[in-house]
Amino acid sequence: MLGSANADLVVSVPRRPAGGETVLGGDTAVLPGGKGANTAVAAARVGGSVSFLGAVGPDQYGELLRSSLESAGVRTELLRTSSRPTGIAYITVTPDGENSIVVAPGANSDVVVPELPWESFAVLVCSLEVPVDVVEGAVRAAAERGVRPVLNLSPVTEVAPDVLALLDPLVVNEHEAASLAGTLPGLLDLGPKSAVVTLGARGAAVVTPEGVTEVPAPEVEVVDTTGAGDAFAGALATRLAEGDPLPAAAAFATRVAATSVTKPGAQPSYPTPSDLR
Ligand code: ATP
Repeated sequence: MLGSANADLVVSVPRRPAGGETVLGGDTAVLPGGKGANTAVAAARVGGSVSFLGAVGPDQYGELLRSSLESAGVRTELLRTSSRPTGIAYITVTPDGENSIVVAPGANSDVVVPELPWESFAVLVCSLEVPVDVVEGAVRAAAERGVRPVLNLSPVTEVAPDVLALLDPLVVNEHEAASLAGTLPGLLDLGPKSAVVTLGARGAAVVTPEGVTEVPAPEVEVVDTTGAGDAFAGALATRLAEGDPLPAAAAFATRVAATSVTKPGAQPSYPTPSDLR
């Protein structure tokens, strides 16, 4: 897994402050997050053998992220400690449940891909809160050595066409899909070998040159959807690495992500196989 690791600093506020105004909030919660770290933790929880390639700073948040990855069973020898501060997401939550977020990428901007023993990996999963040229280089290197590249194009970022053409699959949510193409099959016109679109409560759609396969989500009681997309990407990658065909891997990922929305938070909500219904 190549991607971001952020400390999420979450505070509830009665209302969002206007410019120049100070508003008192509740106690700060410090939670491990970042799309990359979340995806790695989700993949490991469902039994994947996962290495995380990323960067944190030489500070307490870096330690928090390293230990949350390790306690989920993610290997961290490729997690670099950079001289910049750990990435932080400053999240304020208003009583209506709406989030306002400022992300300071910090060490995530310092992620580099070293020489890797590519033959020991089956799948490379990337997301885009780290520099796009780093992701592009990693996807090209992985594909050259027979490693299957999966890209969660979130947030939507311009990616080199030769890199898009290597993806199997491109993973996006439905808003990202709509901003990229007019129809689901239209996603393949961007170049990937396949695409998977997550559809929230409706599950997911698998798009291949043969057509679109819908994968319904189980009906669940929703508590908090934070990090559901990352749970999906991690579980999908675990099953692809085990050799599942794409529709079967997407069906499993849909169950994992649906289970994750029944609990609060991102990483703490990610299920183990025994939590799956
Ligand atoms: P987030 O930004 O919250 O991480 P996302 O927008 O990237 O999520 P979604 O499409 O909302 O991604 O959700 C990802 C997956 O989570 C879905 O494919 C589905 O499996 C599961 N999921 C999300 N919401 C629900 C829900 N209300 N009921 C059941 N499953 C859900």
